[in-house]
Amino acid sequence: MTTSASQWEARPLGLAARMAQLGTETAFDVLAKVHALRAEGRDIISFGLGEPDFETPDHIKAACKQALDENYTHYGPSQGLPELREAIAEYFTATRNIAVSAENVVVAPGAKPMLFSAMMALVNPGDEVIYPSPGYPIYESVADWIGAKPVPARLTEETEWSYNVDELAALVTPRTRAIVLNSPQNPTGGMLLASDMAAIAKIAMDHDLWVITDEVYSQIVFNYPFASILSVPGMEARTVAIDGFSKTYAMTGWRIGYAVCRADLAKQLSRIETNLHSCTAMMIQRAALAALRSSQEPSREMAAAFRRRATLITDLLNEIPGVRCVKPRGAFYVFPNVTGVCRSMGFASANELCDYLLNEAGVAVLPRTCFGRRLEDEEYIRLSYATSDENIVEGLRRFRKAVERR
Ligand code: PLP
Repeated sequence: MTTSASQWEARPLGLAARMAQLGTETAFDVLAKVHALRAEGRDIISFGLGEPDFETPDHIKAACKQALDENYTHYGPSQGLPELREAIAEYFTATRNIAVSAENVVVAPGAKPMLFSAMMALVNPGDEVIYPSPGYPIYESVADWIGAKPVPARLTEETEWSYNVDELAALVTPRTRAIVLNSPQNPTGGMLLASDMAAIAKIAMDHDLWVITDEVYSQIVFNYPFASILSVPGMEARTVAIDGFSKTYAMTGWRIGYAVCRADLAKQLSRIETNLHSCTAMMIQRAALAALRSSQEPSREMAAAFRRRATLITDLLNEIPGVRCVKPRGAFYVFPNVTGVCRSMGFASANELCDYLLNEAGVAVLPRTCFGRRLEDEEYIRLSYATSDENIVEGLRRFRKAVERR
């Protein structure tokens, strides 16, 4: 028996009012366009995707297969497998210079759900949450959705995309509850240094704020050492550090991440896990355990490739008339200023430039508007260089030709 679409939709949907408050990651809309154009046979070079172009290392896949054979196929503890939490605790102790134990760790299907749970657990309706803009759009949309007021803090090209600490301090009000940090940063490739962390920690302590720090790119750094605010003495009582396996181990589709925080909060986050996912898939947790416990060489090689490509793409972008690009400090994104190109090509915004590049040059990039509320007049786009050197060279050749042609 067949059912027509009209029967499915025969009555008004009647969504809950809160759905009107929920934002999204509009980058996925551009990716849908890329897929549609490719399905029509168009040759598109995409700088849109925020995931490593490398495959998950074989030993991690092997650990997952072995876990299946060993019947890691049942429900498990909501907080995560003890042996994985132990390994994460050791990793954090080594990389954040602070003693962490398994009771401080909560595992979830990705870093993204943890961002959500941390805000759900800590932020009340009406509270203010300061977040980076441009920034990963989920901070703003989740804060909005839980009835908080998202307060964007400007990152600027002039400061190589880090927070201006005085400006950040000026945004704090009696309603501020939390500051969100993301370093290395999506979409700019910017990074906060240890001195920034010390200054931001002081603001958090002076005003009794939480810090939610998204550290998913911690292993992809180029010229400066990674710094976590968790390493600043006294911050452990007010910090939720979120990390995962997606970027470090090329495991985006496996869906596994975690939070590190004080044990009493970890219990509450795991209570949310019980309500939401019951647990993270067991065989995936065993694969993550293998990722942490075995050679880190594949991750180092990936980071080295990103570092090399960062220079390649920045140099090629800076050769295009009307484009100015700050060299990224980490992650795998560049965020060039394209105001000059937009002006010379008669585009009112970077969005028009992105449409033009996609349709006329076969190059997919994302406009500034995908990354939170805009606070500046200049026009920017994001390119992910998690793609081959050949694609970078050819994509930028097409970009340049499209600019020079018009
Ligand atoms: N945080 C940032 C800043 C990201 O860019 C992304 C993915 O693009 C995530 C979190 C999501 O990570 P996960 O795949 O672990 O959910």
